[in-house]
Formats: sequence, structure tokens, C-alpha cells
Amino acid sequence: MSDRPILLWFRRDLRLADHPMLHEAVRSGRPLIPVAILDPVAEGWGAAARWRWGEGLRVFGAALAARGARLVLRRGLAAEVLAQLAGETGAEAVWWSRAYDPAARARDVAVKAALRGAGMAARSFPGHLLFEPEAVATGQGTGYKLFSAYWRAASRLDPGRPLPAPGALSVPASWPASEDLAAWRLGAALRAGEDVLRHHSAPGEAAAQARLSGFLDTRSARYAERRDFPAEDATSGLSEYLTYGEVSPRTIWSETARAGGNAKFLSELGWREFAYHLLHHAPGLAQDNWNRDWDRFPWRGDNADAEAWRRGMTGEPFVDAALREMYVTGRMHNRARMVAASYLTKHLRTDWRVGLDWFADCLTDWDPAANAMGWQWVAGSGPDAAPYFRVFNPVTQAEKFDPDGAYRRRWIAEGRADPHPDARAYFQAAPRAWALDPQAAYPVRRVAPAEGRQRALDAYERWKTLK
Ligand code: FAD
Repeated sequence: MSDRPILLWFRRDLRLADHPMLHEAVRSGRPLIPVAILDPVAEGWGAAARWRWGEGLRVFGAALAARGARLVLRRGLAAEVLAQLAGETGAEAVWWSRAYDPAARARDVAVKAALRGAGMAARSFPGHLLFEPEAVATGQGTGYKLFSAYWRAASRLDPGRPLPAPGALSVPASWPASEDLAAWRLGAALRAGEDVLRHHSAPGEAAAQARLSGFLDTRSARYAERRDFPAEDATSGLSEYLTYGEVSPRTIWSETARAGGNAKFLSELGWREFAYHLLHHAPGLAQDNWNRDWDRFPWRGDNADAEAWRRGMTGEPFVDAALREMYVTGRMHNRARMVAASYLTKHLRTDWRVGLDWFADCLTDWDPAANAMGWQWVAGSGPDAAPYFRVFNPVTQAEKFDPDGAYRRRWIAEGRADPHPDARAYFQAAPRAWALDPQAAYPVRRVAPAEGRQRALDAYERWKTLK
């Protein structure tokens, strides 16, 4: 049995508890060298995602330090960095937790081959999902297209019990040099600046655990009834922690069961699983219409209406509130995501990929699978999609899910003598080049709700004849 160090390559798995790779590494008794690499895959993430990953690394590095270890930071191509570190430390194995998006998978396959070619052991572990994407299959061995059928099959599987966090970690006699996290300037591309987002984000495993306990103790019982109301803090708020692996889905699953269960909440976690299942079977989910018939749909490319949408200046208050919420907080309520996405793809007839890119740049909980599935679901081009003719009416959605206007008041400053601080924050955070002024009149609607709906339906009818 070798006693040479193992390089533990951390990516989106920044936690100690229920971490299969870390658990196994500690059991091996070998010295462990935790590593994070700023490589082209991470550099390809959106501005908010890069920044939030950096926040996660900072807190995770401190958690490792509290156990006598370190997080070694290096920048470069992963295969080269790992080979270099192996040379410096004598490590002969590299372990990591699996990622499932195509960019990460392609990299990992290449890294594994390079390491093995150099005589090193490379091993990957589960942990990001409850179930491996291929573990749930139809009787014919194919992927599911409908969530309900997928989830019926998946919920029969047992995700197992969470693993405990390790105590002290065994460490090498000397540490390789680490780069400085601040020098990576992961927040450099944020338009709103780091201080704005930091105000709305509490990174790290302890914060994730507190959020989960708070949800189960106080909000879970009303989740099914209140989860659609964006002015309320009625959902778990766990998405960004799941994105960076600061909590495992299995921990959420098991703690929810221990707290008495919550089928609706767990089925939402199931949508996250389903997104990865879809992505596994359709790796182009973030670029290509899942249903290729939609390639002939007359989407508009990027345009002035889409720019107004990005800026939260469409003149449709519920939609603008949603876009402004995302700009300031890095998050957007699920109901608001659906309405904002519907508005862009239906009322403004703009290609869903224009919206997907903006979300990918602005969301601190950006997830390559959930974002792609969400956009295709709303646009109508996905497998388990809202039918295209189901056009969310932004006015009736607002009446139903923001009945007293609290959400819109929180985010729209114009026309108010004493706007909500968050509504003002949007104007402070927006780039100067946008020349936004909270004292100015609120923009006139770019399209009346009924007219936008009709335009969308007309385009749909034309497309059906082309199919
Ligand atoms: P809760 O309601 O508390 O749900 C618990 C968990 O279940 C979430 O944390 C999330 O991991 C998962 N979940 C809930 N709803 C969905 C869903 N519809 N699809 C997939 N997983 C879900 N979610 C992301 O995590 N990242 C994204 O980039 C993302 N982009 C989206 C884009 C669009 C157009 C749409 C319509 C939805 C998108 N979602 C995305 C899904 C959903 O909006 C968020 O997961 C949810 O708002 C997060 O809030 P929460 O943690 O309080 O959720």
C-alpha cells in the first residue's frame, strides 16, 4: 500500500461532510493535498459564477486550515498543473468528484488519460447528485423525457446515507506553494461589483447547513403553498450551495426525511436530478434545441428589446423586477425566472439562448443543467416542456403571485418618493453606460401583454406549417 500523497482536486464540491472522495481519501491514511485549479473550464463560467466559486474557495480553504490542511491554488491547464504538482510532492494519485456538464466531462476524460499515461492513478467519485445520471433508465435502457416518469423511477432508488465529515486530515510533511486567491481576481468581470453581491450571499458549508436547518424548522411546512410567491422567503435558498457543493443533495434528502418529509420540496430537488439526466442524454442541451423541429422557429437573435429586458427596462413591472433582482442579488425567484424567460421568448420572441447567456453571467447559483433545462422548458423546445401556446401573461402572473405588489415595490424605484433600498441599489449597481435614473419615468411597455401573446401565437402557427 503506497504512502505517497494523493492530490484531491476540488471543483464544485467545497464541503467536508458527505463527501465520498474525501471520506475514502481519509480512510486511505495517506497524506492528502487539496488542490483547486483555475483552468479554462472555470474561466469560461459567467461573471457571477466565477466570483461565487472564489467565495466558496475562500471559506473552504479556511475550513481545511481548521483541520490542519491547506487548499493549494494553481492556475493553468488542469492536466499540466496536476502533473507539475505530482512532480513537486511525490503524489502518485489524483482524485476528484465527478462533474457532469460537457465542458467539464471532456476535460476530465482528457486529464484522466494524461495522468494514466504518465503512470499515475486517477479516480473519480460521485457526490454532486443523488443518482448518477445514467442510473435511472427506462425499460428500454434509454433516458426519460418526462419528469413525472423519471421521478417515479428515481424515487424508488435509495441514495444511501450521508457520510460524516472527517476529523483531522493527514497532511504532507511539506506543502507545495499556492497562488493567492485574491490575485485570481475572480470578481473582476462583475458589472455590479463584489460588494453588491456579497451583501446577498453567505458562502460555505456552515451557511448551507444553517440555511437547510432554518428551512426545515420554519418554512418547509408552508413550502408547497407559498413557494410561488417571490416576495416571500418561502423556498430553501439552497441552490447556490448545491451549485458549489457546499451541501450534498443526499444531506438535504436525508435531513428532510428526518424532519418528517416534504414530497413537494424533494420533487424540486428531483428536477435538478432530471436536468442532469437530460444533459447526460443530450449534451448539447445548453446550445441546441432539444427538439430539433424548433431549429426552424423564427426566433429573433439579440435585439434592442432583449437589451431592455437585460436591463430590467421593458416597462413590464414583474419582468423588470425579476431582472433587477438578479442583477443585485445574483438570484431570481423561480416563478420570476419562468415569467421573465417566457416574456423574452414569447412576447419578445427572442431566442432562448440570449436569455440563457444572461442568466449564466448573472446567477450565483448558475447550474449548467438546470439553466439549460429551465430555458428550454419555458421556450417550448425541451422534452418535458410547457407547451408553446402556454404564454405566461406577466400581468395576471403578477396579480396572482405578487397580489399586494410587494415584489414589484421592492425592485422598481421609478415613480416612488421613497423607494425600497433594494430598488435604489439597482440603480447604484447598474453600469454608468446604461445611464439609468431612478427619478426618470418608468419605461413605457415595449409590447402590450395581449399583443405580445398574439405575436407569439402567430409565429407558432406559421412555424407549425413549416415543421
Ligand atoms: P427550492 O424551491 O427551495 O428548491 C430546492 C432545490 O431544488 C433548489 O435549490 C434547486 O437545486 C432544485 N430546483 C428547484 N426547482 C428547480 C428547477 N425548476 N429545475 C432544476 N432544479 C430545481 N436553478 C439553478 O440551480 N441554477 C440555474 O442556473 C437555474 N436556472 C434556471 C433558469 C430558468 C429559466 C428557470 C425557469 C429555472 C432555473 N433554475 C435554476 C431552477 C430554479 O429556478 C432554482 O433552482 C430555484 O429558484 C432555486 O431556489 P431555491 O434554492 O430556493 O429552490
